[in-house]
Amino acid sequence: MNLKINLDSPHIKLKGLGGYRIEVLKSDLNIHSIADLFHLIPNRYVDRRKFYKINTLAASSTEVQIIGEIMDIKKIRNTSGERLKAIFRDETGSIELVWFKGISYMQKKIKSTETFVVYGKLNEFGGSLSIVHPEIESLHSFKLKGSKGILPVYPSTEKCQKAGISSVFLRQIIKEAFDAFGNHIHEALPLHLREEFGWPEKRTGLQELHFPSTFENLQKAQFSLKFEELFYLQLQLLEKKQLRLKNIKGFEFSKIDTYFNTFYKQHLPFELTEAQKRVLKEIRKDLGAGVQMNRLLQGDVGSGKTMVAVLSSLIAIDNGYQCCIMAPTEILAKQHYNSISELLQPLEINIKILTGSTKKKNRETLHDELANGNLHILIGTHALIEDKVIFKNLGLAIIDEQHRFGVAQRSKLWKKSKLPPHVLVMTATPIPRTLAMSYYGDLDLSVIDELPPGRKPITTAHRTDASRLKVLKFVKDEIAKGRQVYFVYPLIKESEKLDYKDLMDGYHALSRDFPMPDYQISIVHGQMKSEEKEFEMKRFVKNNTQIMVATTVIEVGVNIPNASIMVIESAERFGLSQLHQLRGRVGRGAYQSHCILMTSDKISDDSKQRIESMVQTNDGFKLAEIDLNLRGPGDLMGTQQSGVLNLKVSDLIKDSQILHLARKKAQDILREDELLLLEKNKIIKNTLVQIMNDKAFWSYIS
Ligand code: ADP
Ligand code: MG
Repeated sequence: MNLKINLDSPHIKLKGLGGYRIEVLKSDLNIHSIADLFHLIPNRYVDRRKFYKINTLAASSTEVQIIGEIMDIKKIRNTSGERLKAIFRDETGSIELVWFKGISYMQKKIKSTETFVVYGKLNEFGGSLSIVHPEIESLHSFKLKGSKGILPVYPSTEKCQKAGISSVFLRQIIKEAFDAFGNHIHEALPLHLREEFGWPEKRTGLQELHFPSTFENLQKAQFSLKFEELFYLQLQLLEKKQLRLKNIKGFEFSKIDTYFNTFYKQHLPFELTEAQKRVLKEIRKDLGAGVQMNRLLQGDVGSGKTMVAVLSSLIAIDNGYQCCIMAPTEILAKQHYNSISELLQPLEINIKILTGSTKKKNRETLHDELANGNLHILIGTHALIEDKVIFKNLGLAIIDEQHRFGVAQRSKLWKKSKLPPHVLVMTATPIPRTLAMSYYGDLDLSVIDELPPGRKPITTAHRTDASRLKVLKFVKDEIAKGRQVYFVYPLIKESEKLDYKDLMDGYHALSRDFPMPDYQISIVHGQMKSEEKEFEMKRFVKNNTQIMVATTVIEVGVNIPNASIMVIESAERFGLSQLHQLRGRVGRGAYQSHCILMTSDKISDDSKQRIESMVQTNDGFKLAEIDLNLRGPGDLMGTQQSGVLNLKVSDLIKDSQILHLARKKAQDILREDELLLLEKNKIIKNTLVQIMNDKAFWSYIS
């Protein structure tokens, strides 16, 4: 029996499950088959094993079940509408039951003098206890239906409710389905894993999910089901990675030679941090392995990713290959170009820059040099992936701030050489490890988790317009000490015109607060020509201007150590990761730096939480976790959840412990038995094959 069998197949006869209800199950609960039904995860459980005496109820006992009788029941009508009020009594005391809806139905249902079982959430109002809209059932039918125990509460929708698909109904058809098809449920986890953790068989686990015997058993069942889901997710990702390592050959950078060694020994401007050293080692190992490197380098803003990029490119050049560094904006490309040229100046390496504004004549020589191999490092923007740009032998592609580049763009770069070049993607968006593991499970991950020494943590404050004068005074004092300041305004596409006005208004106001000739102000925004932008940037870099008014153009990577204050206007309109990125523009020198988040007086709870998180921590990874909780993984990655992450039982955030365990176990098992040939892993192999064939995650239980 295939449990993927459609619910309206003639083989399935579940009481009360007819055409319309099947439609609703499909449309609203995504249940199409018996297998889906078995994997319908309850939202929560209610404990209907225990009965309370009324005189023991306290406002703090939330959901309670009592047995008693209805003493008095009457309809009350006042200005606020109608309600039904009953006094419910047991031998120890009484409590009020209240209904606002379904009044006449309830009146009919409880006119008798029977004993009732009442269940619901306790309310306290003016010192007296009540239950609003309790579940109520005669003791007689309660005993008959066996509504005792720990009961699941299933997800529901309005349509479900109208169609009579209640938790009671679902429990009943799931029970029937179990009786009829339960013995077709296949084991999905091997015995050695189940024994190690004391997990039940799959069938028992599913049974516990819907008909828990104890909370302890339920917990074990939930854990093992989540583990199972995440385990197979990780196995698939790890296998994908293995496949890549086996099948995609890459250039072998076998030696570390003069360029690298000379630079490392004689021209390194500072000692690398331990994290930089470790990451570099990981990269070196990849580059020498003869397999294409595909590595994600994560490091908080200011952690020194550029130096890692530079040293990696020297390895490429030592082995006779070319290298390119791609940046998301022209400003950033220029900055990379300037700082890297300066660093490598003693080595006589040919470095060029290519952006949209590169002059035609320069472009032509550049194309020639690229094609004949005289150009070692090409730095640039998207212009790098134009068809005309042809390398002689591109060996390493470094992509800075990857979240701005699409995957398609990346693979375009890829097509430019005989073998795919090694790829190093650098990002300051600190994707939480748990998420990275799932999204990039087939990518290798390097993390710089340490800042260069001597940095003073940036202090962050939240201020409203009411204290603007104080903020300006503070800024003036810092400028008097020789520091420089950023004022950043939001620029969000849909409302660009308005934002532009905000920016210009802000600029004019600041020009009055910081008048010439004592103060000089630069301004940079997206509507300026790139020469103008560059001119203004240069003035600020050279400390000819003390204030930089900008939109998020400066968001990524700009490095001006003397700038020590970042004022973010309308901070409530920025996302958390963006705020963190912006803050990273300061705190790059030896000075105490400050980030001031300006907002209006009234901001939403979400904004408040973001701002507070910013004030509380400088840790990009922590902020990313918070962001993830606020926005969910799909949003955070700027993509829809990919198919493989179509998780049913588990939650990447809440179940991150289980995810780690699942990954570790998957790794251990593959390490011992790469092809899953051992008898004890046969179940895993079979299950994986099923998943691959069916593409639908839960299909393999049949
Ligand atoms: P990001 O990771 O944000 O790209 P950068 O590479 O721009 O960071 O580095 C930030 C600053 O820190 C630069 O001024 C750089 O020269 C400096 N830096 C990087 N590594 C070190 C180090 N190991 N010791 C001291 N300063 C460093
Ligand atoms: Mg950078």
